[in-house]
Amino acid sequence: MNPFSVFLRARYGKCFASREAIARHQQQAFAHLRRHIMPRSPFYKDFADQPYENWPMMNKALMMEHFTDINTAGITKEDALDIALTSEEKRDFAPMIGQVAVGLSTGTSGQRGLFASNKRERALWAALMLGRFSPSFLRSQRVCLFLRANNMLYERLGNALISFEFYDLLQAFDLHLPRLNKQNPTVLIAPAQILRLLAHAQNDGAIDIQPRCIISVAEVLSPEDEVAITDVFGVEVDQVYQCTEGVLGMTCRAGSLHLNEAYVHIERDIIDEASGAFAPIITDLTRETQPVLKYRLDDILIPDDEPCPCGCASLRLKRIEGRCDDILYWQKHDGGLQMIPSDLIRQAVATSQCEIRDYRAVQVGQHLLKIWLDTDDFALACQYVEQNLLMEAAKLNTQLPELNFHQGITSHLDQKRRRVIAK
Ligand SMILES: [Zn+2]
Repeated sequence: MNPFSVFLRARYGKCFASREAIARHQQQAFAHLRRHIMPRSPFYKDFADQPYENWPMMNKALMMEHFTDINTAGITKEDALDIALTSEEKRDFAPMIGQVAVGLSTGTSGQRGLFASNKRERALWAALMLGRFSPSFLRSQRVCLFLRANNMLYERLGNALISFEFYDLLQAFDLHLPRLNKQNPTVLIAPAQILRLLAHAQNDGAIDIQPRCIISVAEVLSPEDEVAITDVFGVEVDQVYQCTEGVLGMTCRAGSLHLNEAYVHIERDIIDEASGAFAPIITDLTRETQPVLKYRLDDILIPDDEPCPCGCASLRLKRIEGRCDDILYWQKHDGGLQMIPSDLIRQAVATSQCEIRDYRAVQVGQHLLKIWLDTDDFALACQYVEQNLLMEAAKLNTQLPELNFHQGITSHLDQKRRRVIAK
């Protein structure tokens, strides 16, 4: 897969019309992995001619442990860590070992992950994103990226037609506004909570920008966020589900979030039969520097098995539920445990009859649910939320944990936002 064909497919290509078409496409991609990529990885070479079932299950910790043997560029974990950490300290994001860019992800679990990519892989990302989202190629595009850590993946991709500017979320948010105003981006890419802050800034007159395309990345975009952002900028918000391991999904032109099955094979590890909630086990069909094979992600996805009006047969998602570790369970009256979708908490807040600007819910053990509310009408808001939660708990035949309300929320923009957390 070269960047140009990826670009053409994202821009003009027909998506897969059937599951059979996806299976055929992936079969060829697997054959390529086995023939050309796996033999170059000391860790995977012996698995190249073994069935998928025999491949080891990979995860972030194992990937880190075996980094030296997994990558096909002969880079040691020590060298990669050394260069990534130094560049992060200096906030100078151009760590390269030869032609390979090395980055360090923090992730929500706090565990660090190393990732390495060559020039072709970095160009694939841009080809995919711009092919799908760039408003026009007749005019030059200015892309703004708000990210927690930069790396070569994003910078230096620019050319005469497309310029990228990177905004480091570890710096104070207000400091970015004058530069953003000057850049006046045509494409705005940021985590949902940053998009929301930018909408506020635009509303207050602190900035005046006219993006023609807005893409939410890295965090769950709630319907409330989406409406608030669209209202201010007058542009539909697209979503890209991406992590260190690749671009796993994006919204189609009909507005549904589809998994990116042209480039990633996804196996479902079902967590909850009733909702179909699953943790994805991914095999990236495009990675060569650091193969991502049978890699279990820490996310929970809720599938939507109805066909999409856009005609694409790639799996649709109802939503990204959050991290595996953040799934709440409430006690059922029959003694079992019931998985509680984060959307239930969101609904309980959203349907309160007073204004709640934002919320956090942290469940501690089985019996205590702490809730932070950003509202001017705290006493009333607590009553409404409690009422709604009691109703939902009754519907599910479960015992609502003891509630403990707090007023106000402190946000840490340099951390991925999690509205619902399990401790
Ligand atoms: Zn669709």
